[in-house]
Amino acid sequence: MKEQSSLESSEIFQLLYAIPDPEVPVITIGELGVLRSVDWVNGQLNITITPTYSGCPAMFAIEAEIKTILKENNITDFKLKTVHFPAWTTDWLSDDAKKKLSEYGIAPPQHSSQIKHLRPDEVSLQCPFCNSDKTHLTSWFGSTACKALYFCDNCRQPFEHFKCHH
Ligand SMILES: [Zn+2]
Repeated sequence: MKEQSSLESSEIFQLLYAIPDPEVPVITIGELGVLRSVDWVNGQLNITITPTYSGCPAMFAIEAEIKTILKENNITDFKLKTVHFPAWTTDWLSDDAKKKLSEYGIAPPQHSSQIKHLRPDEVSLQCPFCNSDKTHLTSWFGSTACKALYFCDNCRQPFEHFKCHH
């Protein structure tokens, strides 16, 4: 049986990095930028996460998954901290994660600085299927609070937009 401190914080970081996002299972919470840091502090493991969307229900699922993985690795003394500052922005998404979102049929988030001052109906999105920008917003709340529903006027397919940003 392993001593609880035998795992380096970087090894635990890698374990937690791979947790799939409950809403978009093709990307991990590491790729999303939700997982911020993992550190041993005086024998206690401190984990810091930042929610992508204030009040996003997915965070509860992510926290539960983190606790499960820690338990599997005999880590019982830990502190799971949720920090809201600095606030998560879509800039934290890796290009790889944006590509995966696109392949999943979800329009990747725009650069946050580009949409910060726009109302949702002013954001012009590219269709993830045909790349047409003749799209329009049909519902600001899609299957979850984090996603908006759009419709492509070119290929006539609905698609979701991952809008978790501030
Ligand atoms: Zn289209």
